[in-house]
Amino acid sequence: MKQPSLPLCSLFLIFIIPLIMLPFGSDASERLVEDLFNYIDAHQDDFVQNLKNWVAVPSDSSDPQFRGEVIRMMEMTAKRIETLGASVQIVDMGFETLYDGRKVKFPPAILAELGNDTTKATVCFYGHVDVQPAKKEDGWKSDPFTLTELNGNLYGRGATDNKGPVLAWIHAIDTYIAMKQDIPVNLKFIIEGVEETGSPGLEELIKGQEQFFSDVDYIVISDNVWLSRKPALTYGTRGNAYFFVEVESGKKDLHSGTFGGIIHESMRDLVYLLASLVDTSGRILIPGIYDDVAPVTEEEHKLYENIDFDMEEHKNNTEVNTFLYNNKEEILQHLWRYPSLSIHGIEGAFSGTGSKTVIPSKVIGKFSIRQAPNMQIPVVEKLVKNYLEDVFAKLNSPNKLKVSLEIGAMPWVANVDDPQYEAAKISIRKVFGVTPDMVREGSTIPLARTFQDLTKKRIMMLPIGGADDGEHSQNEKISRSNYIQGTKVFASFFLDLAKLHEDLLEKSDAKKVKMSQIIES
Ligand code: MN
Ligand code: MN
Repeated sequence: MKQPSLPLCSLFLIFIIPLIMLPFGSDASERLVEDLFNYIDAHQDDFVQNLKNWVAVPSDSSDPQFRGEVIRMMEMTAKRIETLGASVQIVDMGFETLYDGRKVKFPPAILAELGNDTTKATVCFYGHVDVQPAKKEDGWKSDPFTLTELNGNLYGRGATDNKGPVLAWIHAIDTYIAMKQDIPVNLKFIIEGVEETGSPGLEELIKGQEQFFSDVDYIVISDNVWLSRKPALTYGTRGNAYFFVEVESGKKDLHSGTFGGIIHESMRDLVYLLASLVDTSGRILIPGIYDDVAPVTEEEHKLYENIDFDMEEHKNNTEVNTFLYNNKEEILQHLWRYPSLSIHGIEGAFSGTGSKTVIPSKVIGKFSIRQAPNMQIPVVEKLVKNYLEDVFAKLNSPNKLKVSLEIGAMPWVANVDDPQYEAAKISIRKVFGVTPDMVREGSTIPLARTFQDLTKKRIMMLPIGGADDGEHSQNEKISRSNYIQGTKVFASFFLDLAKLHEDLLEKSDAKKVKMSQIIES
């Protein structure tokens, strides 16, 4: 039998072996990624222990009784970020006036900077280290402030919202420092301690920090969760416009036996008004309400195709028989990118058990319209008021009507062509081996929009938490896997973003132009 000829062997050595080696990485940056990931794996118990130390601080920002703990948490965080070699600024946020007139100090905010190499991209990370309230007796299986590992999950208040992700970002930086590697991007931090109470003072803080944000190219928020078991990047959130509609017939409640049949009842008027807002197919009946809603583009259309979303599972979790739509695409679009109107309740109406024969004098209907891009709150407010006044006029009722907008939060949507989305996709593919779903949030997270409006920078929401983490709920958790793999995503993201940033700079002639200006053009 003839032996394989030497040239064939060398062909194998020269061409085939490098081809086999390629996916495992042969250049320096791929070896670096591997080393970074190995380091993170090797130190995962330390990272879990750090989370345990943070979760142990009951930094509940909603209850003034815990204000000292929130302040302590902010101090711990500031010290931790200082250990990275960052310059840390602790910003006083003033005083909060409580309902009883007492004044308590707001927890300070943290601004920090690490690195100021003008040839590198600058990434600002937003996070918060305050938490929702939690009590064991609310139905927690373990003490909410003792991080408890069970079946691969790390249970504790703040584990996923938002202490885990903040620490994962810090640990990603730790990893470069421990391995004596150059961090490929400049890093900035903005960390707050009152996110769970609506971030009072954050807008003023951002407005007052023009200098701090001036050289920021990208803002990353990691404060939400995936849609399914598949990693996701979030590029939009809906806003909300919350209305009160008040109908008043007189000053006091009356008896239906003595007055029923001879008066104009406020409840009848209100129920008629509420019923005129939306039809049974979910369509909002207010003329003009859909006029500003952004049309679905071809690109956006394509994004829905691959999204991992199990309609049946969602239906089971919701415990309803049927949805208004029977396909994934329409369901996601109506959750994410179309407005919806929900009726929440009636204040002043009899709502107890039993059969009380009261005729309420003043009733206030509460409803809200989730806002989609590019709806404008003042426009919506006007349309709603005009419509309800028109409907009411046709009732010929002598009662008094008052419609008011109580909350107006704007929707947010990012341009997904932003290099940071591309970089995050690369990082996620390296860690999880899948391309992340591009998703939006149907609910309202005003932060991204606030940052976008005030800083004019590109924003990305890069969640690492799982869909079943139960933020705000009993038994909040982050899985050990998501926590550690998320740390790897962040570590890789610094490299992947730096690479794309460099490529973009190379393509443009003006090397000194900041990325924000390039992607704007
Ligand atoms: Mn949060
Ligand atoms: Mn939260």
